[in-house]
Amino acid sequence: MPIAINGQTRLVGIFGDPITHTRSPAMHNAAFRACQLPYAYVPLLVHPSDLAKAVQAIRAYNLVGVNVTVPHKERIVRHLDELSEEATLCGAVNTVVNRDGVLFGDNTDGRGFLASLQQRGFSPHQRDIVLIGAGGSTRAVLFSLIRAGSKRITIVNRTLAKAQALIRTYRTLGQARLEAAPLDRLLDPALLQDATLVVNCTSVGLHDEPFLPINLTTTPRHCLFYDLLYRPELTTFLRQAHNARRTTMDGRSMLLHQGALAFSLWTAQPAPLQVMARALARALRTS
Ligand code: NDP
Repeated sequence: MPIAINGQTRLVGIFGDPITHTRSPAMHNAAFRACQLPYAYVPLLVHPSDLAKAVQAIRAYNLVGVNVTVPHKERIVRHLDELSEEATLCGAVNTVVNRDGVLFGDNTDGRGFLASLQQRGFSPHQRDIVLIGAGGSTRAVLFSLIRAGSKRITIVNRTLAKAQALIRTYRTLGQARLEAAPLDRLLDPALLQDATLVVNCTSVGLHDEPFLPINLTTTPRHCLFYDLLYRPELTTFLRQAHNARRTTMDGRSMLLHQGALAFSLWTAQPAPLQVMARALARALRTS
């Protein structure tokens, strides 16, 4: 059923460039319909040079808020009025809420990641975890894992200096022991032998290219392999884990939960999770 647009309708958007790939409109419009909210969610193609004007337009058009995706997540920070602790520490925003013209930026990626683990019945508390990558998504995931009480987190990245910089920034956030390692350590059995969760936070595999050389067989049997990518459905990273008879998880659940958290920020009510999950699954199937 299409959204009814009338004089009461208020807009929510998503800023990105490119933006045609986004599945968020399907998920959020289904949620607004299910909750009978007079909101409509639209993709908004924003060129980087137009970002400041686009942020002004949130106020000018009295938008409820926006989601923010590549390449604006970091750059939008300086244009906002207030930031959550998470957005401040991650240096990135994926959700903006318009509070009577005061723009509040939050980052729901890390909490979405944690919620997806919780739904799976996995607690990161006191666990030994390996994160591959040191970009924006790693920052959000790292923040949430430290706050959730993980014991030891190793960040493996192609550019070692970026992993080391993350450790310096996040060292004092909690009790977790943080370590940085170069990519070739993924072949070292010692790195993975105690890991209970290994997360691919890189974009490697997005185009079905081979994953980075990694020795999965030395991980404990119960180790969970998680790829933040949600397409292709079985990424090259997860295929390897699957072949090594390990349990796997892809990025769809995180996408769902970060969206559900954004929904609650805009509407101050719980998200209709089942409705959103069904709409997202349909949108991903038809893409
Ligand atoms: P960034 O561009 O910020 O970081 C990319 C990371 O990948 C860097 O650590 C980079 O290493 C590494 N990398 C890229 N190419 C290679 C390569 N060929 N070999 C080794 N390492 C490589 O991206 P994000 O962190 O924002 O996002 C990463 C992925 O996570 C994206 O594909 C995104 O779609 C997905 N994602 C999914 C979400 C979900 O809800 N499921 C939410 C957020 C992100 P280096 O530092 O050396 O350049």
